[in-house]
Amino acid sequence: MKKHNFSAGPCILPQEVLLKASEAIMDFNGSGLSLIEISHRSKDFVAVMEKARSLALELLGLEGKGYQALFLHGGASLEFLMVAYNLLEKKAGYINTGTWSDKAIKEAKIFGEVVEVGSSKDENFNFIPKGYNVPKGLDYLHLTSNNTIFGTQFKKFPVTDCPLVCDMSSDIFSRVLDFSQFDLIYAGAQKNMGPAGTTLVVVKEDILGKVSRKIPSMLDYQVHISKDSMFNTPAVFPVFTSMLTLEWLKNLGGIEAIEKINEKKAQLLYSEIDLNPVFDGYANKDDRSIMNATFNLTEQDLKDTFESMLKEAGINGLNGHRSVGGYRASMYNALSLESVGVLVDVMSEMERKG
Ligand code: PMP
Repeated sequence: MKKHNFSAGPCILPQEVLLKASEAIMDFNGSGLSLIEISHRSKDFVAVMEKARSLALELLGLEGKGYQALFLHGGASLEFLMVAYNLLEKKAGYINTGTWSDKAIKEAKIFGEVVEVGSSKDENFNFIPKGYNVPKGLDYLHLTSNNTIFGTQFKKFPVTDCPLVCDMSSDIFSRVLDFSQFDLIYAGAQKNMGPAGTTLVVVKEDILGKVSRKIPSMLDYQVHISKDSMFNTPAVFPVFTSMLTLEWLKNLGGIEAIEKINEKKAQLLYSEIDLNPVFDGYANKDDRSIMNATFNLTEQDLKDTFESMLKEAGINGLNGHRSVGGYRASMYNALSLESVGVLVDVMSEMERKG
């Protein structure tokens, strides 16, 4: 039986994408060869890379606006470093919304001064900082649009006079935004795009080439752009699968269409969390993520009952991150409303039993 997969990442992908990806592993485009046993320089794979790059820009509404899309190695974690390597000359601002921002800050400090413009550390990151002032003269301001662990999400983004850089690993392609307010967006593939192993970087070209340090080729965005994201052998399978997911999203009606479904899913779950006395939400209501909902049992002695009911219902991946505890339901693009319904049914059954 296929499970209801609430895993935080790697996570659920559309069934049709899994099917097409597995077909290409056996026989790519009727070539008699597997996708993963042909040259990345072959005409067929170059077309895959081109399509993945152009679909990413198209879905984000950034085509023809001076942006380039790259599929790189190293995960979002390498981007913590690459962003600073390529953009930090003297001083950068970071908004600290938890673990992932913390890690990005640590890497940036290798290259220059880091100003923590806002932080929600005092409350174990259960909210998104607001009302902060962005100082003048920053090389860039960095934020994490969705904190995967704490289940918080920016609803509004600061207006800055410096480039705005955003780690969108856990909410890219999930909601309508004016993506042109960002100058650099990065996201590991393994949530809303594909398997782990590639990272999407969308960068406005005119912010590059301004730092005085020498950048090693593999870490230089301009080198990757000049080689059409093929400076070295790309992660062919993750890029191909990401392309399939982006095609799936386009056919569904793009970000606008998926946003409606994502909002329905989030509403269904959060209203259960709020109405059901057996559960308590973790994140501040105004800052709740539509991708990752964090909650806990109000009485810990119900833990075993709840967890055996989850198992019985075929629900996978609901354990919260160790730094928060409790539960986390990740409702990425490919998760159906029906799966959220199954979880909500288990939760209301808990209330009846309690
Ligand atoms: N940023 C965010 C918001 C994440 O959720 C994650 C991973 N879950 C990362 C960065 C790190 O990604 P990676 O493992 O691809 O380096």
